[in-house]
Amino acid sequence: MKTIETVGEMTELAKAWRKEGKQVGLVPTMGYLHQGHLSLAKAAKLDCDIVVMSIFVNPTQFGPNEDYEAYPRDLSHDQALAESVGVDYLFAPQPNDMYPKGYSTFVNVEGVTDHLCGAKRPGHFRGVATVVSKLFHIVQPEKAYFGQKDGQQVAVLRRMVRDLNMPVEIIARPIVREGDGVALSSRNVYLTDQQRQQAVVLSQGLAQARELFIQGERDSEALKKVVTDVIGSASLAKIDYVELVDGDTMASIDRITGKAMLAVAVYFGNTRLIDNLILEVESESCFCS
Ligand code: AMP
Repeated sequence: MKTIETVGEMTELAKAWRKEGKQVGLVPTMGYLHQGHLSLAKAAKLDCDIVVMSIFVNPTQFGPNEDYEAYPRDLSHDQALAESVGVDYLFAPQPNDMYPKGYSTFVNVEGVTDHLCGAKRPGHFRGVATVVSKLFHIVQPEKAYFGQKDGQQVAVLRRMVRDLNMPVEIIARPIVREGDGVALSSRNVYLTDQQRQQAVVLSQGLAQARELFIQGERDSEALKKVVTDVIGSASLAKIDYVELVDGDTMASIDRITGKAMLAVAVYFGNTRLIDNLILEVESESCFCS
């Protein structure tokens, strides 16, 4: 595995691969890798000739009072993990190479960013859409892999590639969890032992909602209530939102009639955790993941 540290070198490599007709898969990350990230690289490895994983803590997607400076970083550990799952190139550029002096172009995806984390973290998805567009231009992948853990991010990026005719297939992969159900996240390292123990309420609440859904419940208030009650049982949890939204537009819905996402964001101290569940009704049958 080779680590590429400049935009210039990555651009040249991508041009050469394109000429050779190689199928390139991209896995964008902010590093501090865990099995969730690695699951994306493994999926890319099965589909593509060349797997590029980017590691870039993207300053434009953090709000002024968020954890950009504190975000955990460990490039040498990431290099070992990425290599262990067959990543071919790790692209780890510097912020001033991605955003040189005078940088002034941003990608704003409207509508789908008005809800959930888009409403709670103004500017977040503008930063995400901008950096992912830049990565697509630099690496020129045929396929790009994202985790369903960030469900709204997947919806925003699907909208972006459709609207801007980007020739990239967005592939969403399932949420990877710890043994107790907590979704893996680089931010879990911020949690104290007690917060980490209580963090299980996010997935437990969603699991109870899934049971209700399987029994036939379709009403938003009923599904949200069970999640809110379970999370409310944790003394250190502070709910940011519990929402049932349309699976494509991310707008709130009252009842599930097609594909929906039940999404939660919860603070433990200053650490904000997110999780979600897809609930889908297709005529007589129902699915959840
Ligand atoms: P991040 O480094 O947090 O920006 O995440 C990079 C990619 O990994 C995003 O597409 C995330 O959705 C994905 N990801 C993060 N955590 C998980 C997880 N627990 N399971 C699956 N994918 C994940």
